[in-house]
Amino acid sequence: MYHRRKFIQSLAALTVLPAFAKAAQQPKASLLSVTGWVKPGTTGYILPHEHVLVDFIGAEKITKDRYNTEEVVKAALPRLMELKQQGCTTMLECTPAYIGRNAALLQRLSKETGLTILTNTGYYGAAGEKYYPAHAYTETAGQLAQRWITEFEQGIDGTGIKPGFIKLGADKAPITETQRKTVHAAALTHLKTGLKIGMHTGDGPAAEQELAILLEHGVAAENFIWIHAQNEKDFSFYKRLASQGCWIEFDGIGNTTLTENLQRLQYMQSEKLLHKVLLSQDSGWYHVGEAGGGSYNGYTSIFTHFLPLLRSNNFKEAEIDMLMKENPVKAYGMAG
Ligand SMILES: [Zn+2]
Repeated sequence: MYHRRKFIQSLAALTVLPAFAKAAQQPKASLLSVTGWVKPGTTGYILPHEHVLVDFIGAEKITKDRYNTEEVVKAALPRLMELKQQGCTTMLECTPAYIGRNAALLQRLSKETGLTILTNTGYYGAAGEKYYPAHAYTETAGQLAQRWITEFEQGIDGTGIKPGFIKLGADKAPITETQRKTVHAAALTHLKTGLKIGMHTGDGPAAEQELAILLEHGVAAENFIWIHAQNEKDFSFYKRLASQGCWIEFDGIGNTTLTENLQRLQYMQSEKLLHKVLLSQDSGWYHVGEAGGGSYNGYTSIFTHFLPLLRSNNFKEAEIDMLMKENPVKAYGMAG
């Protein structure tokens, strides 16, 4: 009897071993930050959608001469340090090109604070396409993709700093022809680089259109992060897209939206879909063109208000860790 059981155990071990061996060969998902690849296992809390600087002047008029970098650094540093003190190690800065992306500024802030910061490639087509450069209309999806792939391979604006994800934007459905083209370009960029695709999206039907374009071009749903999912008030869209593999990002968490976001989380918990949810605040930022950067909100409300609310509503610490530490790495990580 003893020997027989032992034999069965060793058979079981044999069948398990190759699976472990295979897993060990797979490179772990890593985030690509403005200071390079992030070592797996070294991150704490992660905010997947925040901003340091935004300039709403429009693609035609935007230039880095419109602000004083020292003034921006002075405004951003204390807020980033405050965030770090909450146990946050990493922030994805989601401001795209032509609306204020400044990779060198983010790298400087990262070095001065010790926070890991990611920047992005791609074009923002929401807000009625006010932030598309002219060439977004004249070039093909392949040409746009080549620009973004070049940023990944050679760095952004001659800095050598690489984007860590693709960021696009679209308004409510039906999404426009040019927005559709940028989704195609994002698919081509992903297939070449591995960069994950986050899309600012106006509503659930628009998210379904974006997903359909990705699938059509051979990109699996797991590579798509539905940014601003809270814009959609019908919770059934969250379930439908998460069940297909998409990431559902509730990134408008603030002191005035605590209850509605708690309800979203309770819904996803009851559907057993918390492993597909991302949380952030869409907070910040230095407003270019406003005196002293205007009202620059801090980054800590999720830690001081929302996570305590989850805990008092019987969310387990393991669930909070999954939401705030593990899911962002799975969503945005690549094989480094
Ligand atoms: Zn944002």
